[in-house]
Amino acid sequence: MAVNIDWSSLGFGYIKTPYRFVARYKDGKWSEGEIVTDDKIVISECAGVLQYAQTAFEGLKAYTTADGKTVTFRPDLNAERMAQSAARLEMPILPDGMFMRAVEQVVAANREYVPPYGSGATLYLRPYMFGSSPVIGVKPAEEYEFRLFATPVGPYFKGGVKPITIRVCDFDRAAPHGTGHIKAGLNYAMSLHAIVDAHRQGYDENMYLDAATRTYIEETGGANFLFVTKDGKVVTPKSDSILPSITRRSLCYVAEKYLGLTVEHRPVKLSELDNFAECGLCGTAAVISPVGKIVDHGKEICLPSGMDSMGEITQKLYDALTGIQMGSIKAPDGWLYEIK
Ligand SMILES: *Cc1c(COP(=O)(O)O)cnc(C)c1O
Repeated sequence: MAVNIDWSSLGFGYIKTPYRFVARYKDGKWSEGEIVTDDKIVISECAGVLQYAQTAFEGLKAYTTADGKTVTFRPDLNAERMAQSAARLEMPILPDGMFMRAVEQVVAANREYVPPYGSGATLYLRPYMFGSSPVIGVKPAEEYEFRLFATPVGPYFKGGVKPITIRVCDFDRAAPHGTGHIKAGLNYAMSLHAIVDAHRQGYDENMYLDAATRTYIEETGGANFLFVTKDGKVVTPKSDSILPSITRRSLCYVAEKYLGLTVEHRPVKLSELDNFAECGLCGTAAVISPVGKIVDHGKEICLPSGMDSMGEITQKLYDALTGIQMGSIKAPDGWLYEIK
């Protein structure tokens, strides 16, 4: 391939690729949408996104399977979630098929930036939508842009898997009946102080609790929890203010259908932590990232799976889902979407 990138040394940072997709919403309708080369956006200083954070995004990746195909993983679920985010933020829904067309066209146009099989690297895709027309009185914008760009990212677990330490956070991420269940930029803006503070105190991530009672486990700033009980059951927290992770949903399916495990999706109390043997964080970037220790205001909860490697069941789940993604294990129908 023509691009000269050392895939194994790539981190998770923005690298500009040549092509992106843009569609514009104006006078009540979406433009056709097209691939463009310009990475700069010109909008009003008073755009809805700049003044009142009217924006939502998605994240997925394109990669090369064992048999040399370029695929994305369950992009239909990203399209569906984008529509839910848009609806909640009073943004227009994309026309049928536009999200998938944007994925296809951007990956095809930037094909030489799709890392080869075995490199561990992927081409990260970032679809997003924002209010582009001026808004000063608080209301939805009248004009919007939907965009999708691609940026190559390196292997998540560089230099091996290392379980992380997280803290129970005193800040809240999402209110009951708020916007925690959609992928809104605003959920991330307000998590920045909490994560910078966590890092300053020596923690890798924040565990957010339910804002109403602070007794139930929700998620971290950007990943869902998955626990394994001491008797081998998979448990994932349920709450209307958790973002429905596609990775978590896929792992639960794999746990049940491929590994024959019992899966419970239910509210999980903070006080239950002592019953768990393993804990992982689920998201597109890492698939599962193991947690070794959770610190609740000085009280340390050390997962029996330890700080040296992934827990046994976490590892099985990781191997099964990455095997499905990479084509070495047969995927359920519709999970791998080939970019021709
Ligand atoms: C994106 C995101 C996740 C992970 O979702 P995936 O679909 O698995 O990538 C989890 N929590 C939050 C808050 C997110 O924004």
